[in-house]
Amino acid sequence: MSTQMPEVLAIVQRCEALFEDLHFNAVQQWKAAVPGRKAIGYMPVYVPREIIHAAGMLPVGILGGGDQMEVIQGDAYYQSYICRIPRSTIELGLTGRLDCLDGMLFPSICDVIRNLSGMWQLLFPQKYVRYVDVPQNYQDDVGGKFYTEEMQQIRDDLGRMRGAPVTDAELNASIATYNDNRRAIRELYAYRAAKPWQAPTSEVYLLLRAGMVLPVEEHTLLVRQYLAAAEKLVRPKRDNARVVINGCFCEQPPLALIKSIEMSGCYVVDDDFMLVTRWLLDEVPADGDPLVELSKAFLHHSATTAAKYETTREEKGVFLMKQVKTRGAEGVVFAAPSFCDPALLERPMLQDVLSQHGVPHTAFKFAENTGQMAPIREQAGTFADSIKLWSAA
Ligand code: SF4
Repeated sequence: MSTQMPEVLAIVQRCEALFEDLHFNAVQQWKAAVPGRKAIGYMPVYVPREIIHAAGMLPVGILGGGDQMEVIQGDAYYQSYICRIPRSTIELGLTGRLDCLDGMLFPSICDVIRNLSGMWQLLFPQKYVRYVDVPQNYQDDVGGKFYTEEMQQIRDDLGRMRGAPVTDAELNASIATYNDNRRAIRELYAYRAAKPWQAPTSEVYLLLRAGMVLPVEEHTLLVRQYLAAAEKLVRPKRDNARVVINGCFCEQPPLALIKSIEMSGCYVVDDDFMLVTRWLLDEVPADGDPLVELSKAFLHHSATTAAKYETTREEKGVFLMKQVKTRGAEGVVFAAPSFCDPALLERPMLQDVLSQHGVPHTAFKFAENTGQMAPIREQAGTFADSIKLWSAA
């Protein structure tokens, strides 16, 4: 066994501890280190974290309660047949686990999240709450103008909260800091696609989750430390099927589900976990009008998911096909939360596109507290076998 094993393990174990901590001690400690510090939570899929960072606050990704938390009160707020993330997020709030947050941003991704932002205002009237609308028009002078004004509102709100306006220089410095984080994560994703046996997705996933609670500078360093440590540790290469996972952009699958997919014989070479870390695809200029540059990046150089408006049917599936081709994937695993309208409504259209291009695909649903992994392992395993046996050599 390599002597580097403890280094990779130590990084992964640290990330796992952060992932399992539903009391957000890392956030509490960050705040306690300097009196007056504030933390702002945000839900999937994307918010411009640069604005929170520029205000000197900690952006904190809130991704539900996972499979370790029992939802008791949260169930009373939503009908039982919808996805679980809003109910477990309410539970997190009502049980005081999110008391360390001074505010919450709810991005516009579906009706459930929109309703959740309203409930949050009623439940926590003393906290800052904002529903973040995103453009459905991709012209700079229409959708761009709208989105820039949306971001300006957040900038003004956070400036008021800290008692001083957020300056352009602060925003540009934060854009540069997040550019560096995006660069590190691009390297991580490229590395995993090139050598998926060296960087298992269960580890990559935990690294991304750490980025939801750590300061961005610390997270960038951690990703680079992981890459260096992972490269030094030689792991066995298997004849697995290379797959893209699609549908996990909001409610998260249990970690055991990701491990089950890998154990069944799949190498995950791309995914849509925590897209906030990879939403802006290119470097954002850090020397211009910061909100205009963030807007242009959103409008013209951002990722795609079911929750993002696409102007024509022809665009549907283009982003997924690009993931498949550039990562050398042999198939797609659709894994969406039960009752997730955006993911499940888009799925047949994506399946059509994949079928037209001869890309094998399989599909199942999960909830963040799904406990039964055997059927998923069997389905993913059969899918991987079918790719290896019957797909073109
Ligand atoms: S899992 Fe789907 S339906 Fe539920 S809140 Fe997220 S995007 Fe909306």
